[in-house]
Amino acid sequence: MQQHLKHPIFKILAETAEQTKTEIYVIGGFVRDLYLERPSKDIDIVVLGNGIEFAEKVGQKLKSNVAIFKSFGTAMLKYHDLEIEFVGARKESYRSNSRKPIVENGTLQDDQLRRDFTINALAISLNKQNYGEVIDPFEGLADLQNKTIRTPLDPIITFSDDPLRMMRAIRFATQLHFNIDQAAIEAISSQKERIHIVSKERITDELNKIILAPKPSIGFNYLFDTGLLKLIFPQMANLYGVEIINGRGHKDNFYHTLQVLDNICQTSEDLWLRWAAILHDIAKPATKRYEEGHGWTFHGHEDKGARMVPQIFAQLKLPLNDKMKFVQKLVLLHLRPIVLAQEKITDSAVRRLLFEAGEEIESLMLLCNADVTTKNEYKLKKYRNNFELVKQKLKDVEERDQLRNWQPPITGNDIMQTFGLAAGKEVGILKNAIREAILEGDITNNYEEAFTFMLQKAKELGLEPVTS
Ligand code: ATP
Ligand code: MG
Repeated sequence: MQQHLKHPIFKILAETAEQTKTEIYVIGGFVRDLYLERPSKDIDIVVLGNGIEFAEKVGQKLKSNVAIFKSFGTAMLKYHDLEIEFVGARKESYRSNSRKPIVENGTLQDDQLRRDFTINALAISLNKQNYGEVIDPFEGLADLQNKTIRTPLDPIITFSDDPLRMMRAIRFATQLHFNIDQAAIEAISSQKERIHIVSKERITDELNKIILAPKPSIGFNYLFDTGLLKLIFPQMANLYGVEIINGRGHKDNFYHTLQVLDNICQTSEDLWLRWAAILHDIAKPATKRYEEGHGWTFHGHEDKGARMVPQIFAQLKLPLNDKMKFVQKLVLLHLRPIVLAQEKITDSAVRRLLFEAGEEIESLMLLCNADVTTKNEYKLKKYRNNFELVKQKLKDVEERDQLRNWQPPITGNDIMQTFGLAAGKEVGILKNAIREAILEGDITNNYEEAFTFMLQKAKELGLEPVTS
């Protein structure tokens, strides 16, 4: 591995180790990512001795500031684009009610043993006598080779000690496209209730990393199969299953949702658009009905789903801001483009969609496209064709009418001044009438036409403009 430690920082660290007679190793994620050829900017250094003192020596040499976290016994410094963290080798023991261990000084082996997975426990020596040697007591290199997430200790102990590791196991499996070792999967299933001692924020951090991976369904399948999903995000677990009445079933909404999520990941990196995919059908279980002679329906699931979004965001400690509003809007509108594509595509329907979706129209179209999961070639082709037509029409209407950030060409103030009105019902009626006329295509979206239309409409209400 020596040739891989190309960065000049490793020479500097090794020199400092030599001069201070301290044993140090690169450890954890950086070593793993070196082998996986994933770029990595975080370097963890384990020091046999005092990590903070050693960091200060390196800081003097590099003339850079060292941030010290006394209560953790760690220190961090930045060097160009690298973040280097120093920690003394430690041995950890756990109590049952907390994921914070009791920590004592330990050997390199102790320190490797406290790490979550064999692939995260690899160390490379930066010491003169064996510079570049890989220290791999748990066969982490073999696990990298055969793409396995495995714990150095009995997985039941590993996961029970710090249940966040269950989420990390699934997150790494998803990010790296690895399998979780069978014994570890069973341990997650048996220890899953322990997840309740982990803070919601930490769980959601891992969940978001799963969602940002290229194929998040890998993680959600693990979460579901081990029973963790039901504990951390029950609304999503509820999507699972097919009910059959009179021999008629419906599609399994859990697997459909995963398919939509994987699909959207092919076209967008955006975390919130991915969340919209996860939540688009979230109210299907709550709105499911069997209608005699008709089959299964989910009437209003888009509306109810949008109303469920704030509560789910709060429960998962996701931000309650414009990101949530974005997700809500997409959930609410997710059926619209596809309904449009199935009918005769009129200008006014397209105008209305553009008006309601506003800036979110592109995201909505991506979501809608991802939502087409039919295996029927004929249907698929028909959808896609109609969809292209909708897109084309959207473009035409947008160019002509500029409805995306629609501002009424005539404001409430204009109306009040023209007719000498105070704010009230009539102003609202006129504003609405103008908007409807534009959306219906009776008039175009400009001041002159809107003004003429307004005069006419006002006359019907018995209003005359005041002459100045
Ligand atoms: P990434 O930075 O991509 O999240 P990483 O492996 O570097 O991956 P970090 O959270 O940065 O993960 O942790 C660095 C190292 O610390 C890990 O590689 C692992 O050895 C150890 N580690 C982190 N969290 C835990 C934990 N909960 N239990 C045991 N070891 C852990
Ligand atoms: Mg890291």
